[in-house]
Amino acid sequence: MTKNYTRDYWESVLSGLKPEGRHFIDGAHRAAASGETFIRIRPMDGKPGAELARGNAADVDAAVASARAAFESGIWRKKEPLEKKKIMLKWADLIRAHGDELAMLETIDVGKPVMASLGVDVRLCADGIQFYGEMIDKMYDEIAPTGPNARALVRKVPLGVIGAITPWNYPMIIDAWKLGPAIAAGNSVVLKPAEQSSLSAIRLAELAVEAGLPAGVFNVVTGYGEETGKPLALHMDVDMIAFTGSTEVGKLIMGYAAQSNVKRVALELGGKSPLVVFEDADLDAAAVAAAWGCFYNSGETCHASTRLIVQRSVQDKLIAKIEAVTRSDIALKHPLDPAAQIGALIEEEHMNKVLAMIAAGEKEGARRAFGAERVMSETGGYYVSPGVFVDMTNDMSLARQEIFGPVLAAIPFDTEEEALKIANDTIYGLAGAVFTRDMDRAHRFSEEIHAGTVWINTYDMSNFATPFGGFKQSGFGRDRSVHAIDKYCDYKTIWQQFG
Ligand code: NAD
Repeated sequence: MTKNYTRDYWESVLSGLKPEGRHFIDGAHRAAASGETFIRIRPMDGKPGAELARGNAADVDAAVASARAAFESGIWRKKEPLEKKKIMLKWADLIRAHGDELAMLETIDVGKPVMASLGVDVRLCADGIQFYGEMIDKMYDEIAPTGPNARALVRKVPLGVIGAITPWNYPMIIDAWKLGPAIAAGNSVVLKPAEQSSLSAIRLAELAVEAGLPAGVFNVVTGYGEETGKPLALHMDVDMIAFTGSTEVGKLIMGYAAQSNVKRVALELGGKSPLVVFEDADLDAAAVAAAWGCFYNSGETCHASTRLIVQRSVQDKLIAKIEAVTRSDIALKHPLDPAAQIGALIEEEHMNKVLAMIAAGEKEGARRAFGAERVMSETGGYYVSPGVFVDMTNDMSLARQEIFGPVLAAIPFDTEEEALKIANDTIYGLAGAVFTRDMDRAHRFSEEIHAGTVWINTYDMSNFATPFGGFKQSGFGRDRSVHAIDKYCDYKTIWQQFG
């Protein structure tokens, strides 16, 4: 029987919730060593939410020690592949079984519509754990070519202790992108979720242990970036940091790795992705893709299509269609309203930053077509309506900076060469798209746009089989797909001589 997801139902889930805010170390909850806590303010209504442990280096030390002990003991990495697979599949099932609760935890932290948290975030988190669980008993090692008197095994071995540092925009999904391959490869993990969105991570760890993952294989330490993330990235006993977040902090992470033990680093960073529309394109399809590509998750998406590079002859027509799609389909409502398609921004400070960037852009001469204003302030929450600026040039701040809010910059062009030049004129290289009916041109563009993912006549389509990540200052290393396992492993050669 399908559930009736009404506003009342979600209010009852919320009132029954008692979020756990302590660290999860060595299979159990633990208060911060300092005893300190902090309160998360809920973006949907500005009210105080959960109380969380305010971690510091002492808590990171405890979590890393637990992860190291689990790794060295071999309790996980040496387990039969089939057994490991069963545990990860059970974990994925438990995530699905606790979907409503996890969705609510994500919504009170992030402010996104609870139906989206359930239908997208919980689903993709479970699918991610399942994808890598299913790989465990299908990974083979190699035998290298040698002469007859030798046998050389090329083994893929786990690295050891992985520090995962994740952002607040898709917490559960991005956690799964790291936890799935890292744990499937046999590593232990210490996860430092963003201070804005730790609740789902703690619950994921509880469910992992319930599924049979040995204590210490997956630990969570909550707290601020400087106080918890930094000691994790500087830790001498962490073998790798898998980071998703801003380019600014990504650069710091590289520095911490260099200053400490030359640990490996994988970085998924920011973006300012171009969506190029030619006059021969299906403009209805392009409008739908441009609106959802930029405004989904209130624009708090690393690969959001924030630069609309549109052939001048169709700019006005396309913007009118984008406005129509936005007004009719992308409902901005209270996140517990089942009809909401987008909700609040992550916090007051971030909303004010987005509004300040909009104001600065207008001062530079950006012309507002619609939206991009604070709305629903009577709720106490932090809402900004989706908006578009037109007739932009690519040197304007709204076209260059990652705003991380629902703001689209439309930049007109005249020739194909110009469109490509504008598309690639950015420090980022996470994603891009081209809309045209000319398949030769679509092919040329997909080859020449310098980005980790390029879509043709669509936006933001993906599945777990496809790698995701960036070029240029959008980072390096790939999440998702079978290839993601590689970054959590290294090759070990075992040479045996006979005779
Ligand atoms: P952020 O860089 O501020 O924070 C990310 C994480 O790093 C958080 O857990 C934070 O606590 C931690 N952190 C902050 N300072 C730190 C320090 N000095 N040392 C160690 N850790 C530190 O990013 P955010 O605001 O949480 O997320 C938004 C950013 O993330 C955007 O730039 C967005 O593009 C990017 N992002 C990228 C991807 C991707 O896959 N490429 C996905 C989602 C988000």
